Amino acid sequence: MKRRWLFADQLGPHFLDDPEQPVLLVISRAVFRRRRYHRQKAHLVVSAMRHLAAGLGDRAELVEVERYRDAVAGRELEVCHPTSREARDLVRSLPGVTMLPPRGFVTAPADFVAWAESRNQLRMEDFYRAARTLHGVLMDGPEPAGGRWNLDADNREPPPRGADALPVPPPLMPTEDEIDVSTRADLDRWERDEGIGFVGRDGPRLFPVTHDEATRRLDHFLAHRLRDFGPYEDAMLRGDPYMAHSMLSASLNLGLLDPLDVVRRAERAYRDEGAPLSSVEGFCRQIMGWRDYVWHCYWHFGERYPRTNALAARRSLPSWFWDLDADHVSAACLGDVLAGVRDRGWVHHIPRLMVLGNLALQRGWDPAAVTEWFTRSFVDGYPWVMVPNVVGMSQYADGGRMTTKPYAAGGAYINRMSDYCRGCPYDPKHRTGDDACPYTAGYWAFLHRNRDALTGNHRMRQPLAGLDRLHDLDEVVAAEKRRRVY
Ligand code: SF4
Repeated sequence: MKRRWLFADQLGPHFLDDPEQPVLLVISRAVFRRRRYHRQKAHLVVSAMRHLAAGLGDRAELVEVERYRDAVAGRELEVCHPTSREARDLVRSLPGVTMLPPRGFVTAPADFVAWAESRNQLRMEDFYRAARTLHGVLMDGPEPAGGRWNLDADNREPPPRGADALPVPPPLMPTEDEIDVSTRADLDRWERDEGIGFVGRDGPRLFPVTHDEATRRLDHFLAHRLRDFGPYEDAMLRGDPYMAHSMLSASLNLGLLDPLDVVRRAERAYRDEGAPLSSVEGFCRQIMGWRDYVWHCYWHFGERYPRTNALAARRSLPSWFWDLDADHVSAACLGDVLAGVRDRGWVHHIPRLMVLGNLALQRGWDPAAVTEWFTRSFVDGYPWVMVPNVVGMSQYADGGRMTTKPYAAGGAYINRMSDYCRGCPYDPKHRTGDDACPYTAGYWAFLHRNRDALTGNHRMRQPLAGLDRLHDLDEVVAAEKRRRVY
């Protein structure tokens, strides 16, 4: 049996053919020199690799080098298809290394190609339905369980009125061990002595580093939190960053859990334990819908896709944003979300899309730089997931290949879906004046700036008609051009 080289996001048992297979793990410090990653992400990855090596004992060879190539050149190895172009090209350039098909996703590349080849529009919803049919997930014969494919309409509840937090048990948190202690000490040393820089704050490890830890978090989520996930999946509360989210994205993207096992477990919770279908469907949609879809889009749209910029957004990200300096911000929503990224390297999908991504879209920040920011700042961020999610979904930089319209929204959306606006110095209803909400005013300025690019889109007809009715548009646009403070 050939030794299996496992990349840092291929750490679960499903990346091996046999539990006895010998393994090579390479920790490359050059990765941390190239990008200033979140400190907690660096900890998570290094700790996860060291935990796997410790668990495998003599069968694992763990090497810590400056460059991957130094550890693998001239060796006979097998590796599952890596998740980035850069890593794939490295593998291809190494003579003794055999590249196997990818693992870690529900669907295979051939499934996506077969689905995509006869279509002009590659919509996630259609792909998700095809994937469910192919794998028999939440299906009753040829029909979707419960008679509907999409239960999103049941899953858009605002947070419960007056609540500071959802009444659900918090996610199961891991316990740090001596490997975490030594990892933290090494990262301190790399920062101090080797000039390696990180962003964000260090803190107790919040995410699993082993298959067993991730399985325990999954078990706990299915038993105690899944029920409330669906209705509140889009809601935000200042005092409850986790709401009823599974907190499993980092584990899936480290390869600790097999996503098909995860959706099958969720389906069992529906069929055998009475979990509500809307929650189970919403959860499966995130994993075998969105997650698989963006993975395939990353490869399908090609090498130039990361730099597409259909709205010609060229502004630089401000330094406070790069540095996750939440104290620089007065806006209650943005300040809290940016602090969440700084302190945890994670916020759920709505703060990502509707607070952070929405801000970048409205302000015309360069989509490639925004992608870079998300990739380095989030514990679950990798190029394959952030390129389509940022370029295609949140920044509309691909001109609509992934979504039918830009995800731009004013303060009214944030006000409806959160408790942020109470106590914010801005007013979500105001688009001019000292208390003009940067999201409300920014929304109109965005539509004005991109009017020509959006005019042909029938889903934008109504918002653009609203823009035409604004009597104070010039004032809004001029003030937003000058805005430096949020
Ligand atoms: Fe955010 Fe505007 Fe609401 Fe303040 S008023 S919390 S800036 S949406």
